Amino acid sequence: MKTLLIAESREGRLLDTTYELFGAAAKLKAETVLFLAGTETGLPSYAGTLYLADAKIYGEYNPDLHKNMILQVIEKENPDYVVFLHSSYGRDLAPRIAASLRIAQVSEVIDIVDGTFELTCCNARMHRSVQTTTSKTVLTIQPGAFSPIRPGGAHLIQAMQTDAVTSIEFAGYEPAEPEGIDLGKSEIIISAGRGIGTKENTEVIWNLAKTVGGEVGASRPVVDAGWIEHSRQIGSTGQTISPKLYIACGISGAIQHLAGIKNSGYIVAINKDREAPIGEVSDVLVVADVMQFLPALTEKLAGR
Ligand SMILES: Cc1cc2nc3c(=O)[nH]c(=O)nc-3n(C[C@H](O)[C@H](O)[C@H](O)COP(=O)(O)OP(=O)(O)OC[C@H]3O[C@@H](n4cnc5c(N)ncnc54)[C@H](O)[C@@H]3O)c2cc1C
Repeated sequence: MKTLLIAESREGRLLDTTYELFGAAAKLKAETVLFLAGTETGLPSYAGTLYLADAKIYGEYNPDLHKNMILQVIEKENPDYVVFLHSSYGRDLAPRIAASLRIAQVSEVIDIVDGTFELTCCNARMHRSVQTTTSKTVLTIQPGAFSPIRPGGAHLIQAMQTDAVTSIEFAGYEPAEPEGIDLGKSEIIISAGRGIGTKENTEVIWNLAKTVGGEVGASRPVVDAGWIEHSRQIGSTGQTISPKLYIACGISGAIQHLAGIKNSGYIVAINKDREAPIGEVSDVLVVADVMQFLPALTEKLAGR
């Protein structure tokens, strides 16, 4: 079994998420080769063949040129799997590869068990298992779903070239317009999950945040319900945070939420279900009704 991993770089730096691809490859129990459009200053530590497309010539992103070079690698290496992150790069490029080769693509994989791909469905409230029947499979993996592995060692670089024609020119990056609050630098964040129950109940979250000088975050269902504004959503489709203290209130711990909180220093979860998955990543799990526990905690901290 062989896996071709498609790494990514931004402005000359290898994205750390590259190492999650190695985590997925380990689950596939497959030998790996790597493709990267990048520069020699931002290369992964990995003992194996690294197919390097010079980003100064081919851009950090160009769907026509990168697709052509990845197809060259596939022809040479004949991998069983081609694995992308489910990033904007992977979402755009993976289907181009699958369609060119007329092979199956499985998107947003969260786990791999004995060659079966696990995906979420019904807004991540259920899982489904998928197998493919084509000779090769293209995968995109959900960011944060696979534990990163840093293989280490010295790679063997194979410089890639293409004379494919493109009408696309990589112009560069533009920072997104700041929208709402930036939680990235907050030291204390208290988040509301669906377990909070109603919009009115979110007041207990705001009260605690005010008392401890923290900020308020939310899981996606809370934002979808309009209880807390979208710019405070935390997770794979929200903000990525790194507070010293994160307090998750009535949040189950879905992979998409965990992807946004994995850099938190100390995690406290309040959940009435002691088996909730958030307990596995928390330093402290308080098994309680959030509507009883939070007002009492706030009162105590306020010294009332
Ligand atoms: C493509 C995609 C992207 C997504 N992006 C994000 C994202 O960026 N961020 C995100 O958060 N989600 C995201 N999701 C949704 C995610 O999969 C989960 O559905 C979501 O995180 C669940 O939110 P929750 O934990 O608040 O709700 P639930 O999963 O419903 O959990 C509620 C929890 O509250 C507990 N509870 C209930 N009542 C109480 C009470 N009174 N006191 C204490 N505990 C209580 C329950 O035991 C439960 O554990 C995404 C999903 C998809 C498919």
